[in-house]
Amino acid sequence: MSFNDEADEMGFDGCPKCHSNNVQGGSFDVSDNTVSQKMLCDDCEAEWYDVYQLVTQEIVE
Ligand SMILES: [Zn+2]
Repeated sequence: MSFNDEADEMGFDGCPKCHSNNVQGGSFDVSDNTVSQKMLCDDCEAEWYDVYQLVTQEIVE
């Protein structure tokens, strides 16, 4: 397995199980600086959470 294959597997696009892009986003759950979104795959019916975290703050000039 090459580095690029591994990077692809670490990607957050689409379904983490079957890599389909046929996914639906559910409701958001916000806590402190983390946001979780429940996701559902239409192809393999996997369910998972996409978790977003605040990385940085940039002041708009
Ligand atoms: Zn899937």
